[in-house]
Formats: sequence, structure tokens, C-alpha cells
Amino acid sequence: MKIRVEDAKKKTLQLAESEPASHYPALVELEDAGEARFIAPVNVAVQAYWEYDHLRAEGKVETRVALSCSRCLADFERDLSSEFTIFYTPGGTMSGDEEVELSEEELISVPFTGDEVDMANEIFEQVMMEIPYKPLCTDDCKGLCPNCGADLNQGECGCDRRGVNLKMSALKDLKIDK
Ligand SMILES: [Zn+2]
Ligand SMILES: [Zn+2]
Repeated sequence: MKIRVEDAKKKTLQLAESEPASHYPALVELEDAGEARFIAPVNVAVQAYWEYDHLRAEGKVETRVALSCSRCLADFERDLSSEFTIFYTPGGTMSGDEEVELSEEELISVPFTGDEVDMANEIFEQVMMEIPYKPLCTDDCKGLCPNCGADLNQGECGCDRRGVNLKMSALKDLKIDK
């Protein structure tokens, strides 16, 4: 999404954009790495206006992904949604493309040059922040049986896992005692 700074100085802009994840190279990399599969376009809605010495962009990014549960390995789908406020400050006063996050209000400040602000970097960063490092299909996913590999969310497999666990902790104690 691109914002013309001169336009935003004249009035508040209401912008909306819907692009496939393939529009964002970093999201394609994520898909190639098998970490997430985007099953809906990345929808962005932004309200942008000029404030003091910066362009203020407030908005929301939404999409839907398929993830693999880190416990039971099942695929599941999840809506991702993130709201943001970004200050685009002219002149590139900060070193490189380093971002300063003001933790209290979660404002992000990004330098820009020229007469147009390109939000692509910030948009994919918002999406990536919402993708869990260790996805879980449900918060209380029971995972797989360490003995037979059955998905314990589908029901009990009949293994005596208490015994397995006891044996394992006994082994661990032995190693520590040595
Ligand atoms: Zn799971
Ligand atoms: Zn089992």
C-alpha cells in the first residue's frame, strides 16, 4: 500500500487494499519454509493523515493462514488480525531501516524519503508478528502419544504413558546421580 504524502497533508485518507500473500516476498519465504500457508488475501485498511511532522497511519491488517500444530502436527486454520499505528517521519533520521518501537502505546516509527510512503514492509511485519512461533491447534492440545504416536485429541490410545514417564524420569535421575 502506497500513500501520497501531499494527499495526506490535504485531508485524511481512507485507504483499503487486498493483495495475495505472494505480493509480499517475506510472506512467500514463510510459505516456502513451510511455516504458514496463506489461504486468504492480506486485507489492509488504513486511515492516514499528516500530524505535526509526520504521517500518521492507523489501520488493521487481516488474513487467514493454515498452520501445523507444534504438538499434534495437525493442520488447522486461523484468522490473523493486527491493528497498528505507524508514524512515518520524513528524512530518514534514524540509522538504516532500524525501527523504534515505543512500547507503551505500541507505536512504530519509520523514516521515509520522497513524496510517497510504501507500507509493504510494515504490513508484512504486522502479519508475521501474528504468526505464533509454536502454533497450537487449541490451547489444550493433548499432542501425540510418545509411545505409539496416536493423536491423543482423538481419544485415548491405551498406552500406559505414566509408566513411560516414570521410566524416563528414573533414567534421568540415574544420569544425574552418576
Ligand atoms: Zn494440536
Ligand atoms: Zn499410545
